[in-house]
Amino acid sequence: MSLFLASMLLVVVLGAGTAIVVITSTARHNTVELAEGVAPASLLLLNIDRDAYQAELFLERVVHLESTGQDSIDARIGYAENAAQLVGERWIGFREIGRALRDRLPAEAEHADMFEQDRDIWLETAARVLDLPPGPERDRLSETAKEQFATMRNHLDILEEQVWEPQIGILGSSTTRGISLVMVTIVVTMIVVAVVTVALTITNIVAFRRQAQDYARREEDLLENTRRQSFETLLRRALEMAQSEAAALGIVARATDQSLERVEMSELLLSDSSRSRLRSAHRRVVGTARGCGVTAPDECRAVVTGTTQVFSDSSALDACPYLADRDEVHRTALCVPVSINGRASGTLHATRAVTDPFDERDQATLTAIANHTGIQLSVLRNQEIATRQAGTDPLTGLANRRSLDTAVHRMRESADCMAILMIDLDHFKELNDTHGHETGDRALRIFADATRDVTYDERTVAARWGGEEFVIVVADGTLDDGILLAERLREALAVKLLDATTPSFTVSIGVVSTDWSRPFDEALELADQALYEAKEAGRDRVVVG
Ligand code: GH3
Ligand code: MG
Ligand code: MG
Repeated sequence: MSLFLASMLLVVVLGAGTAIVVITSTARHNTVELAEGVAPASLLLLNIDRDAYQAELFLERVVHLESTGQDSIDARIGYAENAAQLVGERWIGFREIGRALRDRLPAEAEHADMFEQDRDIWLETAARVLDLPPGPERDRLSETAKEQFATMRNHLDILEEQVWEPQIGILGSSTTRGISLVMVTIVVTMIVVAVVTVALTITNIVAFRRQAQDYARREEDLLENTRRQSFETLLRRALEMAQSEAAALGIVARATDQSLERVEMSELLLSDSSRSRLRSAHRRVVGTARGCGVTAPDECRAVVTGTTQVFSDSSALDACPYLADRDEVHRTALCVPVSINGRASGTLHATRAVTDPFDERDQATLTAIANHTGIQLSVLRNQEIATRQAGTDPLTGLANRRSLDTAVHRMRESADCMAILMIDLDHFKELNDTHGHETGDRALRIFADATRDVTYDERTVAARWGGEEFVIVVADGTLDDGILLAERLREALAVKLLDATTPSFTVSIGVVSTDWSRPFDEALELADQALYEAKEAGRDRVVVG
């Protein structure tokens, strides 16, 4: 824009300069012609006209004086002097100027020639009058001279009025017009230059201010980015240190409290493992504000769409129904989805007074908390799954030997004693050989299902010990508890086998009860001995060790 204005300014200045030069040189040329040609010629012509009049007057005076017998010497001298001027220097000078300006004055030469012709005729007649003695002939010739003089003078009038005077007017006015044009050009140029300069200045000021605003905005963005990044780094470090979901939720609560101002309610809603219900994992409430009542994940817009939802007014037509129905007070709400292992599994949700809407910065903050929470919960849940898998027997889904050891180790801290069941499937080799390994596997799974049916309480751990051998430990379990459980297990298996496609099979169980004075391995050995006795006694029974 300013480049355009600057070029415009240059064009105006150059154009005006050229115009002034052209106008000035034309006016100067006209002025020179006026001063050196037309004006002197007009002056000479006026003098020649005067000379002609005076010569004619002196001629008449000579005729008059001599007809009355008086002295006419002075009059004759006057005539001679004035008549001489009509052919002398003055006239020659006049003609020279006329010739020099011939291009401009085409009629000049014609009338000057005719004047010269009639002048010579008149001068000749006048000479004859002066030679004649007074008398009628002289009077008659004198009348003729008067007529010839009028004819001659007529040419001078024409030269004066039609040839030279108009030139004075033309050249004079063109000079004046030139001067005025120069003045107008200068004034117009100055106005244009002033306008363009003002426009240039304004454009520059506007551009400068815009640039300054731009810089300020960029600096602000940079600061905001730095603030956001350091907040996210802090948040990530805090969440990485949280090694349980409870600890992570504590960080979420603190991060939300510290980074979002004037919030009336903030909460984290997370879906359970089956994804059928949303539960409030953490909630902070100020005053009369209430948490969100949504319980189904597919009724939460943020979870369904997987995008941040902003509800500027709970009374608006398009407000979330769970916000609109919450209470009488008008509020604004922000709901950011929380993704766990790539699936929208919850919402980080906050509300404020309707007069205090969440801005972009609040949204970015809550989004950062939601994202990092989702990442850490994914890590924790994956870890939990991995740990569980490491302690689980893949075929039966029961605990393996390792997690049984861990569970028994833990029991030491809370239980005084325990009942141990050592179980072995009867004639399993035969079942395998007769019906195939896959049927054997199916039988193992049926037995595991039966075990789960009777060992659901927290005190009991059931594990696959290896092959077709299983161990069940009941914390604080007496021998009677053990026997009862063993019998219930045999019953549960029998019931399961009624509907099963596998051939029927039985189990033998050895049961012992012990306190912590005996090492677990030793107690297990006792149970194994009882099992052996059960086998020996004909299988399909419970023997107490
Ligand atoms: P007993 O009544 O004396 O216990 O006889 P048994 O045949 O059950 O005992 P034995 O120790 O002779 O055979 C155990 C069999 O269990 C041998 C093996 O093929 C089978 N078995 C061990 N682990 C698995 C498994 O994971 N899948 C299947 N299908 N069979 C298994
Ligand atoms: Mg065995
Ligand atoms: Mg066996």
